[in-house]
Amino acid sequence: MSTKVVKTVAEVKEYVNQWKKDGLSIGLVPTMGYLHEGHASLIKRAVAENDRVIVSDFVNPIQFGVGEDLETYPRDLQADTALCDSIGADIIFNPEPSEMYPEGFSTHVDVEGITEVLCGKTRPTHFRGVCTVVSKLFNISQADRAYFGQKDAQQLAVVRRFVRDLNFNIQIVGCPIIREEDGLAKSSRNTYLSPEEKKAALVLSRSLSMGRKMIEDGEKSAKAVRDAIVSSIEKEPLAKIDYVEIVGWDSLEDVDEISGPVLAAVAVYVGKTRLIDNFITE
Ligand code: AMP
Repeated sequence: MSTKVVKTVAEVKEYVNQWKKDGLSIGLVPTMGYLHEGHASLIKRAVAENDRVIVSDFVNPIQFGVGEDLETYPRDLQADTALCDSIGADIIFNPEPSEMYPEGFSTHVDVEGITEVLCGKTRPTHFRGVCTVVSKLFNISQADRAYFGQKDAQQLAVVRRFVRDLNFNIQIVGCPIIREEDGLAKSSRNTYLSPEEKKAALVLSRSLSMGRKMIEDGEKSAKAVRDAIVSSIEKEPLAKIDYVEIVGWDSLEDVDEISGPVLAAVAVYVGKTRLIDNFITE
């Protein structure tokens, strides 16, 4: 069967109801489209672990803040459909914003605390938008499992939190970061980078690798690792730090001493483009 492009909630529900009747398991991969190998790794895993797979392809307006890149965010439904088809996903759900947010829409999912740190500081309404759309997608898809990339580590932690808090009946599967050969984490937003900026952007993965090595070599001070990552990024003239943080995984609370698993996360502007990257220790 080739991948079907579905535009309405009602049509997704028709498929889902039939699949449920047939006793089939369902995997969901939420995306904003312009799919790359990072997304593909999630979709492949979903196809391997479920009888049916829905990929949502929706640039969710309510997770963008004022002045962010909602209008310019890259879109290519045809290429996305071809990729999903080659992997064996059953449906691409590509609704219009009015289908997801009809007139009178007034309910949101707000997670406190862990949405207010890291990306939440500069993007205060972002996770409210993410959690609201993801809850809708969970309900629409009735999925048994949903797949999220560690590339957006805070998003993964926040989704796990509301699934637990609100008793959603779904398993959240975290998947590793897929990178270019040179180390740059794959992202739809990499398309904004000029060749010079793309080179400069390598400072994120390079600095994080250095920090990871410090921890592997026995460094226990979060401040020492953080300072080293900051000064490494500051050496790149095209890079401007939004944040560099080392926090507990997956509480996202500050740590002084690195004892349990930590998330080292960075957000850095390269030119006008804001890029994120991270690693998580065992
Ligand atoms: P997006 O389309 O950027 O909203 O991403 C959709 C999903 O793909 C999210 O769960 C992301 O974390 C995941 N993702 C994006 N880039 C990567 C990557 N380089 N490696 C792994 N997962 C990724």
